[in-house]
Amino acid sequence: MTRVLITSALPYINGIKHLGNLAGSMLPADVFARFQRARGREVLYICATDEHGTPAELAAAEAGQDVRTYCDEQHELQKRVGASFGLSFDWFGRSSNPPNHRLTQHFAEVLEAKGLIEERTDKMVYSIDDRRFLPDRYVEGTCPHCAFPKARGDQCDNCGNLLDPTDLIEPYSKISGSRNIEVRDTVHLYLLQTRVEDRIRQWVDAQADSWPTLTRSIAYKHLDEGLIDRGITRDLDWGIPVVKDGAPRPGFENKVFYVWFDAPIEYIGATVEWAEATGADWERWWRTDKGAGEGLEYVQFMGKDNVAFHTVSFPATILGSEEPWKTVDRLKAFNWLNWYGGKFSTSEKRGVFMDAALDILPPDLWRWYLTANAPEGSDTAFTWEQFQSAVNKDLADVLGNFVNRIAKFAESKFGGVIPEGGEPGPLETRLFADLDAGIADLSANLEAIEVRKAAQALRGLWVLGNEYLQEAAPWTAIKTDADRAAVIVRTALNLAALYARLSAPFIPFAAEKIAEALGEADLDQWPQQGAAVELARLPAGATIRAPEVLFKKIEDEQIAEWTERFGGAAG
Ligand SMILES: [Zn+2]
Repeated sequence: MTRVLITSALPYINGIKHLGNLAGSMLPADVFARFQRARGREVLYICATDEHGTPAELAAAEAGQDVRTYCDEQHELQKRVGASFGLSFDWFGRSSNPPNHRLTQHFAEVLEAKGLIEERTDKMVYSIDDRRFLPDRYVEGTCPHCAFPKARGDQCDNCGNLLDPTDLIEPYSKISGSRNIEVRDTVHLYLLQTRVEDRIRQWVDAQADSWPTLTRSIAYKHLDEGLIDRGITRDLDWGIPVVKDGAPRPGFENKVFYVWFDAPIEYIGATVEWAEATGADWERWWRTDKGAGEGLEYVQFMGKDNVAFHTVSFPATILGSEEPWKTVDRLKAFNWLNWYGGKFSTSEKRGVFMDAALDILPPDLWRWYLTANAPEGSDTAFTWEQFQSAVNKDLADVLGNFVNRIAKFAESKFGGVIPEGGEPGPLETRLFADLDAGIADLSANLEAIEVRKAAQALRGLWVLGNEYLQEAAPWTAIKTDADRAAVIVRTALNLAALYARLSAPFIPFAAEKIAEALGEADLDQWPQQGAAVELARLPAGATIRAPEVLFKKIEDEQIAEWTERFGGAAG
């Protein structure tokens, strides 16, 4: 595979995302994208804000803005904070942009032509005072089973029973509190998923071998439960209009496509946005008849809650169209990163959100912790103590200490010049072999998207440097054998520069500082020639300097302060 298309789950528009969103899709996708670029693959990493639906409308109303202005602002905020975290999107689009409108309308028309869409009449709750239909979870009332007074129209949070809004006793609008509501007929488009179920299962059977267990089990769970026909339109103003033959579809003038129908299509839509902005060709990434067939791998990253949509629902759209669209090859799913065993919550001020995280510490510290502790095998809980330990022990004590120690030594004893003379001896030979094995391990885990194992392998490589320096002891050698000291210093400086290249996918900002201080010109080049060659990259005679402090240790007092501010701590 020479080209890699990467997408990470679209963050919803209503506010800056928390660290769990980062850890469970955007960050691992970014690490993977950076690794693939460094390997010389042609990479396109696409993400976008998911902007339609009732929550966006309500959030805008709460902010006192019209929904378009609200989305404009929130999109810019998310884009900026993503960039500050070093997320290397090739394009960060918007599901409300014209390409997604065109594509969504196109898919609906094609699916209808294939007999996979039909109009059906639903009964829905209408709020006369709000002048709108209410989605099930925006109708509240008393639970008929347990008398809980704030049961939602889809489910009672108290007893867990699934509900229909018409089951509720004394129902009211969650939006306004009005009890002036009634059930009305409303016509919607239904996607007949039951008619493509066999095709989806065949497709999943063909893909599943290359999917991780979590992805596979979710896909089959949904297939085994059986698909149902699904309404793909809603009674809303904000969204993609429903058209027929280029004009508003009769009876659908006040309806739009359901956000879950249009959001996955935005992966394609955002690629079109990118192509229109850069003059590139989007079809070679998405149309198998126009270059997206052989030689292109499509890898998706997402939290487990999105897997069903991308293994079953969206494939119903794609496969149902019978058009030659590229489908996902590998789908990497993540469990939850929790905040001390509970959920992150804006309203309850629980947990760190992406903007606040950058207020208190540089992005690399978060990036390292969140990859080393990626919620891969199971849900994972963030704790300040683990975070402090990852930063202090891995970054400061191991990587930071090594780079600083050797660069300072070279500055003080060799005038900041990479020394010449001497030949590598048995210690170096052993180091080369250990590095080769470690780099192979790191590369294999990155390629397999085993995020935790990859971080572990990288840490193991950093440890090798400290062990080498300890054993080789250039501070002793320099007193008796100048050539030997030169070999050690030259090797260790080259090793520090090699660390910059190996660490760049995880901690790009620190990697850049190291590379710059040591004169490593091309960070974006994954080592492929074996350590003996890679550690001769920086030429003798070149000048270096010690980088500024790479990682400041986190003090106990800071932990106490942040615990106060963001929550956390036992109990
Ligand atoms: Zn109940």
